[in-house]
Amino acid sequence: MRRLRNLKIVATLGPASSDYKTIRALTEAGADVFRLNMSHGSHPEIIARHEIIRQVERDTGRPIGILADLQGPKIRCGEFADGPYDLTVGQKFRFDLDKTPGDATRVCLPHPEIFQALEAGTRLLINDGKVCVNVDSFGDDFAECTVTVGGEISNRKGVNVPDVVLPVAALSDKDRDDLEFVCTLGVDWLALSFVQRPEDVLEARELAGTRAAIISKIEKPAAVDAYPEILAVSDGIMVARGDLGVELPVWKVPPIQKQLVRGARKAAKPVIVATQMLESMITSPVPTRAEVSDVAAAIYEGADAVMLSAESAAGDFPIEAVTTMNNVAIEVEADPTYRQVIEASRTKPEGTVADGIVAAAREIAETSDIKTICCFSQSGSTVTKVSREKPRVPIIALTAKLGTARRLALTWGAHTVVVEEVTRFKMAVIAAVRAARGEGFATKDDHVLVIAGVPFNQEGSTNILRVSPCDDTLIFASEPN
Ligand code: PGA
Ligand code: MN
Repeated sequence: MRRLRNLKIVATLGPASSDYKTIRALTEAGADVFRLNMSHGSHPEIIARHEIIRQVERDTGRPIGILADLQGPKIRCGEFADGPYDLTVGQKFRFDLDKTPGDATRVCLPHPEIFQALEAGTRLLINDGKVCVNVDSFGDDFAECTVTVGGEISNRKGVNVPDVVLPVAALSDKDRDDLEFVCTLGVDWLALSFVQRPEDVLEARELAGTRAAIISKIEKPAAVDAYPEILAVSDGIMVARGDLGVELPVWKVPPIQKQLVRGARKAAKPVIVATQMLESMITSPVPTRAEVSDVAAAIYEGADAVMLSAESAAGDFPIEAVTTMNNVAIEVEADPTYRQVIEASRTKPEGTVADGIVAAAREIAETSDIKTICCFSQSGSTVTKVSREKPRVPIIALTAKLGTARRLALTWGAHTVVVEEVTRFKMAVIAAVRAARGEGFATKDDHVLVIAGVPFNQEGSTNILRVSPCDDTLIFASEPN
């Protein structure tokens, strides 16, 4: 199963997509990574989905990435005696620590640390930003506010506090519990919600160890401000436009998206553009023109992946949504303007041997008639460097580590193939030629380019580049040397 595009597609699983038939169909339609959203779904449900994905992986013979998305410190108000209540502009409303059910004038906000972080004028956004109040006065256990944007408030609605860095733990007790659960189950990526500082990422890494790579979801203004530091300690990035568009005026999101994608590309770390990409397809079999344009824009920017949330988790047309993304990617990537835009935004290689070899590989492959760049990698880091070059020829990522292959499911252009451990370069060339021919990237009359590090099985040692013919003599060579 070879994709006809470089872009990767992440599909969130949920009630609309939890059986074998649907997950298999999503994979065949183009989903490369599945997201398990820990905000929804019980542990037994997560176990069942995980098991089905791995079954589909075995049945299709293609490595599939699994991304577990931790809920993070999502703040919610308490419950009301009655309601919902309509808050009107200009009225007073009070948040406090009193657990008594709320009414039209007050409600509990069971997060003492928030009251400590408030300042006069701080905004509290309620119910996905639909309602807004300004803090007039506050103490250790209350905040008196004035409503500035009216609307409905009811039980356990989300509360966003965009103006201040909250002294809340990056991981709630539920997150710690979920993190251990999914790492034990075996996932490839962990996504952290509402990251505010680099320390938040380090805290999760301490708990996850090497069991999963970490994606920071950028959805707080504080995270946008600290982006270089957060990017430096993360393995990947998600442009989480849903909450970002609540925490900031929504028109600030497109330039931030461009900035985040560009930063991640420069760092050779995969970046996902997420939320409301094909929102109308939750209930419609066809997307709006604006949605198609939005998916295309992310591809022109050079994002590694685009993501479906409710469209695939709870919508009526999950397969159609994946098919739409797949087809948009095929069209955009065939556009000469796309190549121009991508090449104009390519960054200079970093000053390492691996970067030099990777840049040379692209140059040689594009100058001559080489069919594919075959890259051996332990950790996947050389593959992400090849991917950063965004070569015109396909990338085959060869690794003996299934975990690396699964993580690379998120990386632009990486067609992963799991091979047996190789100990000599000739064996690597044979494995590369076999993969290129076997997966339909080259025929016996073609040449491929192979890059690897010798000695093998040592991370970050990329130091060889070879152009190899694909004829049978090599494949059937009996003595590796
Ligand atoms: P969520 O994150 O779907 O977990 O809220 C993505 C976003 O906020 O865009
Ligand atoms: Mn979010």
